[in-house]
Amino acid sequence: MSIDILNITKHFDSFEALSDINLKINTGELVALLGPSGSGKTTLLRIIAGLESADKGSIIFDGEDNTQKSTQDRKVGFVFQHYALFKHMNVFENIAFGLKVRPSKLRPGKEEINKKVHELLSLIKMEELAKRYPAQLSGGQRQRIALARALAVEPKVLLLDEPFGALDAKVRKDLRRWLRKLHDEYPITSVFVTHDQEEALDVADRIVILNKGKIEQIGTPEEVYDNPVNPFVYNFLGNVN
Ligand code: ADP
Repeated sequence: MSIDILNITKHFDSFEALSDINLKINTGELVALLGPSGSGKTTLLRIIAGLESADKGSIIFDGEDNTQKSTQDRKVGFVFQHYALFKHMNVFENIAFGLKVRPSKLRPGKEEINKKVHELLSLIKMEELAKRYPAQLSGGQRQRIALARALAVEPKVLLLDEPFGALDAKVRKDLRRWLRKLHDEYPITSVFVTHDQEEALDVADRIVILNKGKIEQIGTPEEVYDNPVNPFVYNFLGNVN
């Protein structure tokens, strides 16, 4: 699924959070939205998801205008910083949840759910942990489960908002490499929000740098690293945790 973001502008009262954003995300691409806090990354992600409406502009999925569509109809999957796994459900049940609550016409049978969950457990290399509860898992493992849960309903687009932001540096590093490998194996069109420049460089096919609601630079990690348009932003990012 490709995503065309066309002329997206968004105000909160008189404050312009996004200013005429234009961006094409290709099918199967993993794009990082990188920028300092307050630059509009999450707002753009929420507009792609249909969780927030823009004042102006369009969101096109595979040539089809989705601007007025609900989040559910856009078939997007989410992973957020604060994973919201159900504490009273084990890993298997957490991953299966999205499939079980589908409208009856779309709900797979028990066998099929079983098969799907095991495929996902294998994809995230956590087959042995199916019966564990979230409290018995590390933060990194929980975030991998959150990702499997998002993938269970076969979204067309995966949106990740600082998914590793709550984890410590070592785990973050492992997880972003892991996510990169996973994406190579399972290349779903993905948009990844981060303020961590190293994370964007490690994970993304392309990096989009936002600053004060505008796109400042778009390029591959190499291009952005070798020729930063605004070194100030990089220095600034370097000082932020
Ligand atoms: P980022 O994800 O880059 O940190 P955000 O997209 O969250 O930035 O926010 C961009 C700007 O818009 C910030 O100045 C923020 O305070 C403002 N903003 C975001 N959401 C709201 C809201 N619901 N109401 C008012 N201002 C908001």
